[in-house]
Amino acid sequence: MSRARRRCSWPVEDFVGPKARKGGKAKTCECECGEEVTSRFRPGHDQRLAGQLIRKALAGGRSGTATRRRITALGWDGKLAKSEAKMAKGQAMMS
Ligand SMILES: [Zn+2]
Repeated sequence: MSRARRRCSWPVEDFVGPKARKGGKAKTCECECGEEVTSRFRPGHDQRLAGQLIRKALAGGRSGTATRRRITALGWDGKLAKSEAKMAKGQAMMS
């Protein structure tokens, strides 16, 4: 290591490189569409998946329970609670 000729030796690529390089492994969208992503989802796919899962969870039954677990795993409990509240309100208005 030559301390005398110290120049900016930061590996620049680490800063300007695409996020996909992080970890070096391509990830696929968590909605299971199979598309490669740099974060958890393709833009908009989280919304779509959340909508599908919440509808399923609210429908109840055995798959509803499993779906609720998945929603929790994804960290979307808040979204589900909001939809539940909205649905309860809607039903109250209809009756
Ligand atoms: Zn997707």
